[in-house]
Amino acid sequence: MEHYDYLIVGSGLFGATFAHLACKDGKRCLVIDKRPHMGGNVYCEQVEGINMHKYGAHIFHTSNKKTWDFVNSIVEFNRYTNSPVANYKGKLYNLPFNMNTFYQMWGVTTPEEAHAKIEEQKSEAIAKMKADGISEPRNLEEQAQVLIGKDIYERLIKGYTEKQWGRKCTELPPFIIKRLPVRLVFDNNYFNDTYQGIPIGGYNKLIEGLLRAPSNSPRRGETEAVPHCNTVSRDIPSEFNSGCIDVLTGIDVPINPPKHEYSLDNGGYRELSDPIAYEMLEARAKEMRKNPTEAESAFWELVSGKELGVKFRRQHVIGNYIVDFACLEKKLIVEIDGGYHSEDEQEKNDYLRSVELKSYGFTIFRIKNEEVISSPEAVVRKLQLALWLAEKVPLREGFREASDTLVYTGPIDEFFDFKFGRLNYRTVRFENEVLYMPNYQGNAVVNYTEAEVPYTRVIEHKHFEMFGQTVYDVPKTIISREYSTEWQPGMEPYYPVNDTRNNELAAKYRAEAAAEPNVIFGGRLAEYRYYDMAPVIESAVRAYGNRSRE
Ligand SMILES: Cc1cc2nc3c(=O)[nH]c(=O)nc-3n(C[C@H](O)[C@H](O)[C@H](O)COP(=O)(O)OP(=O)(O)OC[C@H]3O[C@@H](n4cnc5c(N)ncnc54)[C@H](O)[C@@H]3O)c2cc1C
Repeated sequence: MEHYDYLIVGSGLFGATFAHLACKDGKRCLVIDKRPHMGGNVYCEQVEGINMHKYGAHIFHTSNKKTWDFVNSIVEFNRYTNSPVANYKGKLYNLPFNMNTFYQMWGVTTPEEAHAKIEEQKSEAIAKMKADGISEPRNLEEQAQVLIGKDIYERLIKGYTEKQWGRKCTELPPFIIKRLPVRLVFDNNYFNDTYQGIPIGGYNKLIEGLLRAPSNSPRRGETEAVPHCNTVSRDIPSEFNSGCIDVLTGIDVPINPPKHEYSLDNGGYRELSDPIAYEMLEARAKEMRKNPTEAESAFWELVSGKELGVKFRRQHVIGNYIVDFACLEKKLIVEIDGGYHSEDEQEKNDYLRSVELKSYGFTIFRIKNEEVISSPEAVVRKLQLALWLAEKVPLREGFREASDTLVYTGPIDEFFDFKFGRLNYRTVRFENEVLYMPNYQGNAVVNYTEAEVPYTRVIEHKHFEMFGQTVYDVPKTIISREYSTEWQPGMEPYYPVNDTRNNELAAKYRAEAAAEPNVIFGGRLAEYRYYDMAPVIESAVRAYGNRSRE
């Protein structure tokens, strides 16, 4: 029976860094992720030879030399410098607010002139408030005008902020903007940090490097004692995973006990759907069994024999769904996914389906069509690990049979079965488009600051990694329009909401987490706090350090 030192839920930067450090100490780690890929939010999808930041533009920046050296020891970073441009009604302004912006705004050419103009506009805003009998800004609009004046507020802040928050600036509290720094120099570098850049070859290289056994790992190459080494990582080319980190993506293991407990004796979960719906679903399932896809046939070949020692059913009705394959005795569902499963709407439906199926105690394991056809042996090995993990449900208790310690980087409220209520998030919807031109906007990031344009930013991904003429080496380009969107369960939970309700709720969950034995909660979701990439890496380093000293 396998036993790991750490079972790490989530292969984002926190989980991957933690695994890397543990592996360096000769520990064995199993990293699992419910997404079909490693890397969490920094994952990049290859589109037309360009790394598309699937979960939003990510620019690494830090002033911590140790952190910079650490990430560069994994993969070299390029010279990308974040210099966003704002588009207001077709006129372009450099960001952050600096001498270029002031020249574009007012035609001023010296710092003295710019300073005088800003002070004049700030005084006007303060005078207006006084005339209205107000001493302190009552809302974000007044606050911004006191800090920077009317012109910059109206052209570069107002519309953008209203789109971001989905509310008028006059309805937003003033504390959202505490400071609005201005630079009286010609400097478009957005960050004040000493170091910034993008991993050469994209963020997947960073994650692959972290999850590859470090060269000084005592267990490097020790494959026999570690049964799944070199076998289960779905995305890492095998030569990378040579040590003590196993990775299994596409697996969603229930953390909490099932809501509906049914025994196998009741005919395979039939009672869960209503009788009429069941008849219809069963008829449809029968049809589907007769007309399997190529990948489904190939998978059935793999699991219908005796090799795995368990029985699988195909196109099986569970609750209100027909699942591709189910092993009822181990409570494992296997879904064979085509390309459409990565589209937004489908991802949301998959989420709702997963919630229901997990509530019956099932683990869901997703495999891509191509993989079943091209790598059947790897699929079988992953399936063995998935079957083994499915026995550990609910993971909150069952992890003890799999590992000494659980490192959890998923949502903290989900870990505790939402017992105090759901935490809220803000999210962003991305509309991606491939354009048949080499260069669309000449910059990676363009903010649209007028309210009438519905999106907040357009990201042109190739500019993160291609500079100067090399932009033209790739004939197409990919852009993402970003829309701030109200979050609902099933959408990507991007930013924690900093208000009284959510802060109080998060504090309650954190208190529970602190009392949970042998579980480390880390990263943006498990701590319910916004982290940039460098701080999340530093936090994982601290968490591992604390653990290893215990
Ligand atoms: C839109 C956006 C833009 C950003 N831009 C920048 C930037 O420019 N610069 C910067 O420094 N930082 C940026 N960040 C922050 C950066 O994304 C985070 O610091 C970093 O990704 C956090 O890593 P993590 O491991 O905590 O979380 P994540 O990357 O979210 O990883 C958590 C992983 O856990 C998995 N998971 C969760 N629950 C389960 C479960 N039950 N079972 C299995 N797997 C599970 C998830 O699928 C996910 O893969 C940005 C964030 C967002 C949202």
